[in-house]
Amino acid sequence: LFVPPPLAEGAHVEVEGNQAHYLSRVMRVAAGDTVILCDDQTGEWAARVVETAKRSVIMEPVERLRPREAVPDLWLCPALIKKDRFDVVLEKATELGVAEIRPFIARRSVADRLNPDRARSAVIEAAEQCARTALPVVAAPVSLDAMLADWPEGRTLFFADEAGGAAAVDAFGAGGGEVAAILVGPEGGFDDSERAAIRALPRAVPISLGPRILRAETAAIAATALWMGVAGD
Ligand code: SAM
Repeated sequence: LFVPPPLAEGAHVEVEGNQAHYLSRVMRVAAGDTVILCDDQTGEWAARVVETAKRSVIMEPVERLRPREAVPDLWLCPALIKKDRFDVVLEKATELGVAEIRPFIARRSVADRLNPDRARSAVIEAAEQCARTALPVVAAPVSLDAMLADWPEGRTLFFADEAGGAAAVDAFGAGGGEVAAILVGPEGGFDDSERAAIRALPRAVPISLGPRILRAETAAIAATALWMGVAGD
């Protein structure tokens, strides 16, 4: 379970609400049982259940098992897409190990807002399932223009362009593992002015993910997996 930081040996942790319900009603933990806790800061701990009540469970961290993982410095910048499909992007990007998910609103985006609580619980659930010890940051959506205007020096922007680009694996390999980002368009793709604005960025590298038109979430997942395989260590 992810809990607010910092976890420390002997410092009691109390969880309430859904987390307490999950522990006491679903996992049916009892005093003396061991639970694995993470705080996205000090790492992963074995904790002993001290007390379980209907609405809260108290635990005591006893041993640190793993430090917070080193996270490859990859941002995934997906255009907002329909809610249930965007949930898939959040889940898979978390499993694949991205550092940050920075959505933007494209002209042809169907969705124009992101519920931060829903997004945070999606990444926490995915991180707990795949045993990550670090949570990806999920930024609030911005316009494409704002994102490009603030683009950080030195971060390569691999731009998944259905209109064509270098083969992704070659581009990622040539990148040599520097800090990077992958940008993916919405259901309706990019319009010409967006495409021109992205390509005008000094460190933009258009990449192709093959001859077929992938769904936005497929492109985001495929490109992230490829980058992790080529440049992610
Ligand atoms: N409406 C566009 C069209 O019909 O050409 C398709 C957009 S596609 C559903 C959504 C996004 O996925 C694209 O903007 C692009 O970022 C990415 N994408 C899809 N297929 C791709 C490919 N073969 N190569 C690179 N990017 C791709």
